[in-house]
Amino acid sequence: MNEVRNFINGSYSDSSAGKLFDNINPCTGALIGTVHEAAREDVDAAVQAARAALKGPWGRMSEAERAAILHRVADGIDARFDEFLAAECADTGKPHSIASHIDIPRGVANFRVFADAVKNFATEAFQMATPDGKGAFNIAVRKPKGVIAVVSPWNLPLLLMTWKVGPALACGNTVVVKPSEETPTTTTLLGEVMNEAGVPPGVFNVVNGFGPDSAGAFLTEHPGVDAITFTGETRTGEVITRAAAKGLRDVSMECGGKNPALVFADCDMDKAIEGTLRSAFANCGQVCFGTERVYVERPIFDEFVARLAAEAGKYKLGLPDGEGVNMGPLISREHQQKVLSYYKLAVEEGATVVHGGGIPEMPEELAGGAWVEPTIWTGLADDARVVNEEIFGPCCHIRPFDTEDEALALANDTDYGLAAAIWTENTSRALRVSTAINCGIAWVNSWFLRDLRTAFGGAKESGIGREGGEHSMEFYTEMQNICIKI
Ligand code: NAD
Repeated sequence: MNEVRNFINGSYSDSSAGKLFDNINPCTGALIGTVHEAAREDVDAAVQAARAALKGPWGRMSEAERAAILHRVADGIDARFDEFLAAECADTGKPHSIASHIDIPRGVANFRVFADAVKNFATEAFQMATPDGKGAFNIAVRKPKGVIAVVSPWNLPLLLMTWKVGPALACGNTVVVKPSEETPTTTTLLGEVMNEAGVPPGVFNVVNGFGPDSAGAFLTEHPGVDAITFTGETRTGEVITRAAAKGLRDVSMECGGKNPALVFADCDMDKAIEGTLRSAFANCGQVCFGTERVYVERPIFDEFVARLAAEAGKYKLGLPDGEGVNMGPLISREHQQKVLSYYKLAVEEGATVVHGGGIPEMPEELAGGAWVEPTIWTGLADDARVVNEEIFGPCCHIRPFDTEDEALALANDTDYGLAAAIWTENTSRALRVSTAINCGIAWVNSWFLRDLRTAFGGAKESGIGREGGEHSMEFYTEMQNICIKI
């Protein structure tokens, strides 16, 4: 049985309160390990270690030295690729085909990209006139912010955690990570890689546990933390932002979404079907910028619905290494209950169930898993809860529209503003529509196409701030202006 411990000051330690919780395989419901829940004292030790490490060799290293170490971290994950893959798939149940192409390689890339990027960012300089005619120079320098708390979710565990840890370390900070209680293994395993790569003790720490009254709250409320970067639900983001207000600590919030796709009659239908299929169902619908609302121009509505449903019917659900498997379970039985409650609600709210709508028939050995069918609805009113609340499962509602203005109004009729997908072969329309949607990322004729140098984040209730490229550098550093009088 796998035992996941905490990683503090370069070594693994047990829960000082002796508290353990279960790690469950979502494919089967079987117990696969136990996790040491960090007590307040453990979180305190991790923050103290991270503070001390700022003053140690890490704090004295040049950018180039830190970058070289982070490349070794990337090499270290690559060298243990199969171990990371097995751990990620055991925790999440997701197919190997997904984790081996997205989760693990993107985790590696997050270290490489930011190790290189940090060497190339400029600061600013302004020359100014002064009354004595001699003038002055202003030169800005960037410094690490200090101890960064990283609180991450379960849907893309290694990828979303390293997306924050990579740039934070590249900028010279130290981190204390609180991975999701559902998926603690790859983050904890990364501690070994950090040691092997020569990352000094205390620079990377992991505390396991839950949110309220547990490691998540202990960490985000800790006065020794200088800034908090969070990915997860909007309501959790609000709680953490309140905690961060004490001491005026900076926050980066990457939160929920209820993302629209707009499919115009002038789209390339094959591309639109393939893209919408992925955006609604990839990772069993557990992607923050996944599509849960699809708006299709009326002349192609019937054909689009029929073709998407036919494709959804081809998904093969099963174990991560099963032949041809391309959809796993949801993360947990608890999340399965939540998603199924929306499947039931959709019917109560008057939906036509075009495809799915329940629990699939699975072999006996998988009966205890968190399986749900990929599901498509039509016919719901615009104010239905199913059309307005984030479900975070493999499901979408499809509604026809008649004009571009109507489509835009529908797309923007949401409290969220994370992402949108627009399917059209008309470039002018693509630009007009994408800029008119109030969201952080709009994809035209694509989805989940990510260049790590670009801004990533959400508008409205989908978040605060941007990460990616220079925006990560902005968040993970404190800019100081030095004014020099001549
Ligand atoms: P969650 O908010 O339940 O948990 C996220 C993390 O916060 C976990 O580590 C959890 O233990 C911790 N946490 C919970 N309560 C806390 C508290 N009071 N104090 C401190 N920490 C606390 O989210 P989840 O269910 O793990 O993830 C799914 C959500 O994440 C969805 O809403 C999804 O849209 C969102 N998400 C957003 C992005 C993005 O980039 N915008 C990416 C992925 C997922």
